[in-house]
Amino acid sequence: MALGLTPPWQVVRCEFDAAKKRLDLGLDFPRGSLFPCPKCGRGECKPHDTVQRTWQHLNFFQHEAYLSARVPRVNCDNCGIKLVSVPWARPGSGFTALFEALLMAMVRAMPVSTAAKLAGVRDKRLWRMLEHHVNEAREQASHAEVTKIGVDETSCRRGHKYVSLFADLDKARVLFVTEGKDAATVTAFKEDFKAHGGKPDAIEEACTDMSPAFISGLSSELPGAEQTYDKFHVLKLINEAVDEVRRQEQKDRPELKKSRYIWLKNRQNLKAFQVEQLEQLTLARHNLKTARAYHLRLNFQELWQQAPDQAEAFLKKWFFWATHSRLEPMKKVAYTIKDHWRGILRWFESRITNGILEGINSLVQAAKARARGYRTTRNFITIIYLIAGKLDFGKLAVTHSK
Ligand SMILES: [Zn+2]
Repeated sequence: MALGLTPPWQVVRCEFDAAKKRLDLGLDFPRGSLFPCPKCGRGECKPHDTVQRTWQHLNFFQHEAYLSARVPRVNCDNCGIKLVSVPWARPGSGFTALFEALLMAMVRAMPVSTAAKLAGVRDKRLWRMLEHHVNEAREQASHAEVTKIGVDETSCRRGHKYVSLFADLDKARVLFVTEGKDAATVTAFKEDFKAHGGKPDAIEEACTDMSPAFISGLSSELPGAEQTYDKFHVLKLINEAVDEVRRQEQKDRPELKKSRYIWLKNRQNLKAFQVEQLEQLTLARHNLKTARAYHLRLNFQELWQQAPDQAEAFLKKWFFWATHSRLEPMKKVAYTIKDHWRGILRWFESRITNGILEGINSLVQAAKARARGYRTTRNFITIIYLIAGKLDFGKLAVTHSK
């Protein structure tokens, strides 16, 4: 019963080799047994011949356990000669179904290489199995209800290799991952989305950073989706401009040395001595450009507290102030904001951000660090689906043991 055996299968041999730390179970069927055709399901087929197969099973205490059997090939009137399905393993796998269930539980909790070592299997075989289950679970996933998406990139390896992640913002799950970060990734997403029952026209809202590639990809592939530019990303650009002002000014104003973080963090996240430093440096008599840039940043952040019908007027005022600040980096970022005006203000309608993707990204990067990187982009993509795809692997242990 533990092996998931059903008639006519029975255990006919049990060899225990203490020196090799190995348990071998031989399975067989009695003469005269009939099998259903694995393709059309027609029962009562006579074995035509048999093929010898071995599967790795759960360890029996510290001993590696293997099942082996001669698997019949039946000659079905409709389908010809077919290898029958066995109840303890899925077709083509060298692991029993129970062992696969254990391995899947392990790879969700630890790096694949660690799981492989613990379970006594080769990395490559474990990756192949994992990829099979991820692909199978993805095939069944429905994207039919998706109306809000977010897209972002994450790095695979050092050396500027990236994958793009497309997420369902309502269900906080990764829908699609593909290599690259250009506009073509949106085309690939759209194809995959349709293959999962998704309706591109039903996507009403899309959130991105201000990457020209994503913007143009979304505009051409999903013209019906309103674009919102992620507000954390917008703030990041403003922070970079503030930092640039400080860097330039620091050359003549030594009091700015070691002040970088006090301008970039929010006040409530500063330590007491940093608050004091900030208060000193922002005193009007110092007349620091950095302090003016900092106030522009603080004022910009108040945008998000405006009532929707006041937001645009607020942003216009800010834009005027920034462009008249005589601070080049601030003027530059203000014009970037002007070029993305509609998508920044869209937040007041859509209320979407890429916060979910940021969260997914940190999970993925943490897994990558634990695994000390992945050998291939394909493996990296498999892991992203495993940890952030919200895929259903529920029937894993029983699917093939009916
Ligand atoms: Zn058949």
